[in-house]
Amino acid sequence: MSRTGGLEVRNLSVSYGKHRALEDVSITIRPGEIVVILGANGAGKSTLLKAVSGICEGKVTGSVLLENAELTGLPANRILDQGIALVPEGRGVFGDLTVRENLTLGAYAARARDDQAANLARVHELFPKLIERQGQVVRTMSGGEQQMVAIGRAMMSNPQILALDEPSLGLSPLLCKELFQNLRKVRDIGIGILLVEQNAKQSLAIADRGYLLENAHIVHEDSAKALISDPAVQAAYLGAA
Ligand code: ATP
Repeated sequence: MSRTGGLEVRNLSVSYGKHRALEDVSITIRPGEIVVILGANGAGKSTLLKAVSGICEGKVTGSVLLENAELTGLPANRILDQGIALVPEGRGVFGDLTVRENLTLGAYAARARDDQAANLARVHELFPKLIERQGQVVRTMSGGEQQMVAIGRAMMSNPQILALDEPSLGLSPLLCKELFQNLRKVRDIGIGILLVEQNAKQSLAIADRGYLLENAHIVHEDSAKALISDPAVQAAYLGAA
């Protein structure tokens, strides 16, 4: 990992009081790679994203490294400055503000302030629809469009790693498809994507690798291709008998 860069999570454990939500979790995400975390409700998926982004309320031990720099214990704004942007569950957009205003707010990270115009141009290149909608108040947009704004806003911080918590939740099948195509585009410009998803089928279809998280532990890791054809994965996550 140290030669290739990217995100490295080593032996991460998180407790909420007596409850252990993550136990000795180690994962890596290289630049330009989509990595999906699959797991049942309560397995610890959101906790992993929160711990990596510095917003976890629990007691966190272990380490999170980005490009070999230690991020453990840093506050969320410093982690964003280092290059990890989170799109939280429920998107976290400002509904009363316009698309343009939401995107501008995404550019407050120190790493992005000087390159706001270039980052905006890149977001517009990825999501041309946001150009025509720039004056629209976000709460009047469809769920899929709002998700696009949320991803665009995270991209305004010029991240190396984009972490997303259940981005397809509540989207129609068509909008899901568009969302996953958009994540591919983000991956293709060299950004590493850490994706937590209930939609195992579509997320594995675009992912490079995946981890299975069960009861706070990583129990399996493989290429997305191998996971899709794994009978145990099919039975547990892909709705096969
Ligand atoms: P889901 O798919 O249902 O969102 P998840 O895999 O994302 O689940 P987490 O939200 O990470 O799971 O929660 C893991 C465990 O930690 C759960 O048992 C949950 O109740 C507990 N937990 C999460 N956040 C807190 C908190 N702030 N305080 C106490 N317990 C928490």
